[in-house]
Amino acid sequence: MIHEIEPHQFHNEWNPRKPSAEDIVFSFDGNNAILKPDRTFFHFRELTHLHDFRYLFSIDDTAFFLTEIPQGNAISLNINFARDYEPTELGFACVTGWHLYQWYKTTRYCGACGTRMIPVGNERAMRCPDCGNLVYPRINPAVIVGILNEHNEILVTQYAIRHGEYRHDALVAGYCEIGESVENCVKREVKEETGLTVTNLRYFNSQPWPFSGSLLFGFFCDASEGNIHLDKNELKSAVWKKRDDPFDVPGSASLTACMIEFFRDGKVSYGR
Ligand SMILES: [Zn+2]
Repeated sequence: MIHEIEPHQFHNEWNPRKPSAEDIVFSFDGNNAILKPDRTFFHFRELTHLHDFRYLFSIDDTAFFLTEIPQGNAISLNINFARDYEPTELGFACVTGWHLYQWYKTTRYCGACGTRMIPVGNERAMRCPDCGNLVYPRINPAVIVGILNEHNEILVTQYAIRHGEYRHDALVAGYCEIGESVENCVKREVKEETGLTVTNLRYFNSQPWPFSGSLLFGFFCDASEGNIHLDKNELKSAVWKKRDDPFDVPGSASLTACMIEFFRDGKVSYGR
């Protein structure tokens, strides 16, 4: 999965420092990342004429910073390029930097009183100097659900068009609402999107998914009753697939891909 960058170590404990020559600098423009024309990232030594470098995090001994790089001698790539970028730790770093960029961009002013926010010194947070409103980075918790039936088939969905360009196989998924556990979110999302009732929830794994600002929780569960009634606003189709049926899941970066592989390898079955 995209965050699995071993043997490299991701350090996001709050330990900001000044940039040094070999540190990497990200710049974004909306949904696009700014890279060098050869699709590599800028180093601080190439940008010492700029100012306002915001510390993000480190991987091993390399620190990553955010700034605004003029478009001149640079290219602009949709952030989705990071899904299969090599080396993978830099793809992960870039999209994680983009998640933080989005948060900094939308936290410039206080949502309560409109005053310009200032960074808090001792942790990653923004504070309103006027009313004291304290805002931490926003992460949206969400669930991915592998639903199995008694024939040991898994429910594979395709999103309705309004979810954009992702046309590949997916699993039932949705964001947690205020006031519910992730387990209750699983049951509600499955019911809403498919009409099915599910039991025997088994937690699988989690992953950060910065493309949607999310933290994803993967569960397998069993369909206990009900016929499929699709929510056509959310899903175009939902079909049961056997382990050796063809699946259309690009890459291995996502929790969805990891869960489908786990299913196809026979490592999860109905009822256990
Ligand atoms: Zn305020």
